[in-house]
Amino acid sequence: MLDCKPDVVVALSDTPFTKPPHSQKRLTKSLERSTAWLLNILRPVELEDKSKADPHPLNVFVHMAGSTSHAARGAFSAALMETLQGNEAVAIKPLGCLDEGVAGYVFDLVPLRLCLAAEKDPVEISPSDLLDTATTPTATQVSVHTSKLIPLIQASLASLPVPKLRLINSAISPHEILRLIQNIGIDMFDAHWAQRAADIGVALDFVFPAVTELDANGQMQGRKRNLGHNLYDQAYAHDFTTLADCFLDGASFLANSNSSSKPICSCAACSPLSPSTHILHSSVDTESYPEPTGSHRPFLPPFTRAYLHHLLHTHQMSSHSLLAMHNLSVFDAFLSGVRVVLSQPDGATQFTAQVDKFVELYDEDMKVFEDARKNWMEVEMARGKGRLAREKAKQTELTLGTAIEL
Ligand SMILES: [Zn+2]
Repeated sequence: MLDCKPDVVVALSDTPFTKPPHSQKRLTKSLERSTAWLLNILRPVELEDKSKADPHPLNVFVHMAGSTSHAARGAFSAALMETLQGNEAVAIKPLGCLDEGVAGYVFDLVPLRLCLAAEKDPVEISPSDLLDTATTPTATQVSVHTSKLIPLIQASLASLPVPKLRLINSAISPHEILRLIQNIGIDMFDAHWAQRAADIGVALDFVFPAVTELDANGQMQGRKRNLGHNLYDQAYAHDFTTLADCFLDGASFLANSNSSSKPICSCAACSPLSPSTHILHSSVDTESYPEPTGSHRPFLPPFTRAYLHHLLHTHQMSSHSLLAMHNLSVFDAFLSGVRVVLSQPDGATQFTAQVDKFVELYDEDMKVFEDARKNWMEVEMARGKGRLAREKAKQTELTLGTAIEL
């Protein structure tokens, strides 16, 4: 592992993934195992030159165990801060307690949401909820509001040092991300949500701080804005605009940089660049491509919604690649916006005001994601099913042929 020089290592934790709710015995076991595995990863690294090397070179993050029990979450945090004795103290020497070797704390929201949903209504949890963690949040997960998660996360963090990094996995919306920053001071989020939106054909289109658009009468527009566009929708079949209204593409930005206050989306879908070099097949080819003048490369025309719509319906992989690049760029700009607001002299007050404005402007129900998921499944079934059936028939044919030969 040390040869890979990882930036961050997350200690294994025993998170129950069977159908919740879980028994007290299972919970206790989960805490004991998670602590033991953390202790194991914090053992000093054996290096040849002991005088120079740091015996604890890894940035170890730990999953905060304890499920939905405030007491269990508090107990796990207390175990991290507890001064170790005996064999355990010898094992991680010179660290006094487990927390000294920890760089940050991780919270996985999927298991927490499933446990909370099961406590509310055990019948609601279906096997697909337990297996479906790699896809968009299921209805069961969405039914658990962020406000239910915040006290649990706080129960873990109450007795732990404030300056250490706090990482959240699987937040389900930008609204949730903002609330978690506002209420708990979370520092980092995974980009799973934005990436997954690309998988189901959604081009994200939002900014933070939100920009209010007024109608002809100078009033705020009544309907809440969607966080993105479901490009499977037939409405985009002849829409030759860029992927996001909130951003400019590179070519337009250069053409009239003074007339618009919109930020640029620098992704490869909105601001594509031609390759910096040409493939030369012979010395004659050099005459076709004159030496570029200056270091600046002009942007190519942006990819349009109509083109992406076509790629999605024809099951082209490039649709998802282009959308992933765009969505990660929008998500990155969103987090940059958060940092800019928080870095103001009265950052906390301004941030609260901006969060309220964002929640007011952007639709949190995210119906566009639900629709996109359905459309994605339809295309996936139509294309995937046909292909699989053909492959299966071919396989049967081959197997039969082999049997006869034998
Ligand atoms: Zn873009």
